[in-house]
Amino acid sequence: MSSTAPILEGRNLSKYFWVRQGRGPFARKVPVHAVDNVSVSLEAGKVTAFVGESGAGKTTVARILAEIIKPDKGTVLLDGKPVPPGRPRSYARQVQMVFQDPFGSLNPVHRVRHNLKRPLEIHHLADGNSDAVIDALLARVALRPPAHFADRFPHELSGGQRQRVAIARALAVRPRVLIADEPVSMLDVSIRLGVLNLIADLRKEENLAVLYITHDIASARYLADTIVVMYAGQLVEVAPSTELTDNPAHPYTQLLLSAAPDPERAQPPHLKDRGAPPSLLAPPSGCRFHPRCPFAMDVCKRQAPPSVAIAEGHVSACWLHVDPAQRDTSQNGVPALTGAIADKAEEKR
Ligand code: SF4
Repeated sequence: MSSTAPILEGRNLSKYFWVRQGRGPFARKVPVHAVDNVSVSLEAGKVTAFVGESGAGKTTVARILAEIIKPDKGTVLLDGKPVPPGRPRSYARQVQMVFQDPFGSLNPVHRVRHNLKRPLEIHHLADGNSDAVIDALLARVALRPPAHFADRFPHELSGGQRQRVAIARALAVRPRVLIADEPVSMLDVSIRLGVLNLIADLRKEENLAVLYITHDIASARYLADTIVVMYAGQLVEVAPSTELTDNPAHPYTQLLLSAAPDPERAQPPHLKDRGAPPSLLAPPSGCRFHPRCPFAMDVCKRQAPPSVAIAEGHVSACWLHVDPAQRDTSQNGVPALTGAIADKAEEKR
């Protein structure tokens, strides 16, 4: 297998959650379309960021990849092979997750030492020398001197220190993939950068494949090699991070970027100014973004847009990239590029 072969892949993942609607004899179960036909691949030494508003389906994809929940459709592959059912222990060791709330993810009645020792015991990695391993883990996440932190309870630590302990616990089992679900969103702004820099260092030094889930496109650009933008359970744009933020092609990505804080702009427009994301109980027909899109056309309401390759590694799902003459037929063929996007693709060739 080549060094650039993905370690972990999700192919055509879909997930529906069933909820009850109505009362009494009229009650029925209806599906929430949480994730619809999403594919992603994670490579060693690379950070992939999933960006989107709350409810876009980012965390559901992360949980499917961590095998915490099963997809209704699609496959998860580790080193190109489907993962056996039942979340095998070897899979859990190789694919670790760091959660948004570091306090909720650590056992509050045990000291840091115990929290770090448990995974070593479960995966038989302690070799009778767990104290030295725990000290090395704490030093690895810049909690120094380790002895000062190992015997503390989680509530005695700051939010940033707790998240570092949670990362150390994930690293304890020497994973190959780290899935970080909004790892800094509950931390003070002043300590977020330190945790992001720690993840960036680990990616390089441990050659980890990292999936970084966030609603903050600025931090995704800072940390990630590739950004995947999700909207209402679907993938709408994928590109290398600088390409995506310098040349966003999808109207939703443009909206996300326009709402990101910018020191040169007194008050960025708020995403809510263009309405709220749709209910996933009954997603809009065609392009799910059409009720909020300033460029929506008739075809957008009728047909889901195709994914169009705009440049090397840059794909966007939008009818604007399809030649007008082909808009109603492109589902069955290769759509033509239009306008500035076609010019850009030509320049890249
Ligand atoms: Fe807007 Fe249509 Fe593109 Fe959807 S497909 S983002 S509605 S222009």
